Amino acid sequence: MATPILLLNCGSSSIKYQVIDAESEAVMATGLIQKIGLPSGTLDHTVAPGTTEERTEHLEQPIPDHAEALRLMTQAFADLGPSLAEVKAVGHRTVHGGERFRRTVRIDDSVIQGLRDLSPLAPLHNPPGIAGIEAAMATLPNVPHVAIFDTAFFSTLPAEAYTYAIDAELAATYGIRKYGFHGTSHSYVSKKAAATLGRDLDDLNQIVCHLGNGASISAIRGGVAIETSMGLTPLQGLVMGTRPGDVDPGLHAFLAREGMTIDEIDTMLNKKSGLAGMTGGTSDFRDLDALIESGDQAARLAYGVYIHRLVSYIGSYLALLGGVDVLVFTAGVGENAANVRESVCDRLAPLGFLIDDEANAVRSKQPRVISQPGSPVTIMVVPTNEELMMARETVAVLDEV
Ligand code: AMP
Repeated sequence: MATPILLLNCGSSSIKYQVIDAESEAVMATGLIQKIGLPSGTLDHTVAPGTTEERTEHLEQPIPDHAEALRLMTQAFADLGPSLAEVKAVGHRTVHGGERFRRTVRIDDSVIQGLRDLSPLAPLHNPPGIAGIEAAMATLPNVPHVAIFDTAFFSTLPAEAYTYAIDAELAATYGIRKYGFHGTSHSYVSKKAAATLGRDLDDLNQIVCHLGNGASISAIRGGVAIETSMGLTPLQGLVMGTRPGDVDPGLHAFLAREGMTIDEIDTMLNKKSGLAGMTGGTSDFRDLDALIESGDQAARLAYGVYIHRLVSYIGSYLALLGGVDVLVFTAGVGENAANVRESVCDRLAPLGFLIDDEANAVRSKQPRVISQPGSPVTIMVVPTNEELMMARETVAVLDEV
């Protein structure tokens, strides 16, 4: 019997959703609602994507808030199916779980209050997440709602990895520490890599590179995360589309003294840095590649900075793990940009990362090995599937009750 689970990922101006049958793990529907709160919003709803039964609906109209967005989503389900009445549970992607939420939980009033309390740690992410949860609970009041945290997979980090070397009392007062993000993806991909290789997860040291518009890397020993690059917020670590990753913490005070406000610094770091910052606005790797082709020096440098940072992190995680069995690339850039994988692995070849150029060039949606047969480290591309992982997590929590 089918067990449809609705997965919701609510941002400040967008909502992504999927219905996955937790039994067959088939995607029954996907949707994207954009430009919530702007003069004209859009909704795209697709039933049975990628099959001969595929049907879509596109809508354009003002969508003032998350409640209206979910009302339109409900209407789209009523128009095209599948029936929302069949949905057994709703899983909500929740960015920041802080120290309180170390695993997936069933949502009740105290959980919502807990998320509110955590909003200062994730002002861009948790408030729209809460708005989405409340709207969804009002829309589907008779099914369990579950929160799946981006931070949960990294709750296993040892204290020496998550502690910032700052005043301990200040850190304790505000919960200032490394939390890590993209955990659902790192968790899914590391398990999938082991399964694809037919190896026991417990036996593998893995480094997972989640390279999308946001980017993070993790060191995973026997399925347990021991280090990751994102920190208190999703700004730390690797170079990203619009975020810088690591910068000197002194930068903030310097810019504040030069006259920038906190909000201007925050916007600069979240939206106008990374690849976009270095190139004057190009955050997408496809556009970056085209710029490099055309001889653009800023784009070439941005690419170099991106690779340099990634190689530095992989080298550091190799040392922390004391040896690595598998290096995995995932997310938009990791899955598609063969040149990035090649540039990184060429630099790491002396350390045993031997990429197979032919295998690396293959385009596929399947998990695959791209290293040479004799490579000391197995290099893989494993497409991420955060929604599927969320569906599994949701069902696992329901089964506990
Ligand atoms: P994600 O956040 O995982 O959806 O990844 C989005 C990013 O992946 C985009 O901003 C691009 O930089 C990158 N990307 C997507 N498709 C391709 C492609 N075919 N080649 C290179 N980069 C890609």
